[in-house]
Amino acid sequence: MALIADNEYRKTRILCLSCAAILHGDKTAPSIICPDCGTTINLKQQFEIYRYAFYCLRYGYQYRQYYEERTDSKIKPFLAPLGEMATFIAIAAISGVIGNATYDALKKAVQKLISQESKCEAKNDRFLPTNEEFEQFFNYLTDFHNGFSSAPEFIREAIFEEMLGDAAAESPQLADRLLELLGKEQSKSKEIQVTAIYRELVRRQKARVLKKPNISPHAKMWEKVK
Ligand SMILES: [Zn+2]
Repeated sequence: MALIADNEYRKTRILCLSCAAILHGDKTAPSIICPDCGTTINLKQQFEIYRYAFYCLRYGYQYRQYYEERTDSKIKPFLAPLGEMATFIAIAAISGVIGNATYDALKKAVQKLISQESKCEAKNDRFLPTNEEFEQFFNYLTDFHNGFSSAPEFIREAIFEEMLGDAAAESPQLADRLLELLGKEQSKSKEIQVTAIYRELVRRQKARVLKKPNISPHAKMWEKVK
């Protein structure tokens, strides 16, 4: 199974990180030129940013909100991704920490994204935050980027389990092996193997989720938003 963010990225449109236009275009090309502002969009970098924002959104906001609202929940849900508009808004929200955008600039980008609602898939259009909602969204995503320091411990633990669950879903061979082992009788060898699989899932998860996109410190995101 492919990674969740990769699957979602394949379905999304292209976002100009300079003017916040949502574009159609060939995502297999190395780059495209934004017809609205003339900026060259590097698609490899675009995917890196998308992937990082996608996981900040998924764990830092979507799952966090889920657990904040259900503090006694024992259920481990597998939440469907929030969609391209939400991920684009997440890119804007974290652009202050990954691309040096000012809060004013990223707010303008969010407004422009929302004004293009009709360009996104209908099912993805339900995430259109008000100013107040955006502020909390921004705080949650920034907190995730900064290592989740403001989240209560039970939420951090619950989300870490969700991350492991995603890693297992994306590593079917390891997940099958783990299930098989868990069904066996207790033994030292079982314990060692189970620990090794958990470690490998954590390693894969970290490589996938916490890898920050490589953006030039001089890049000015949203500088051409009108
Ligand atoms: Zn543009």
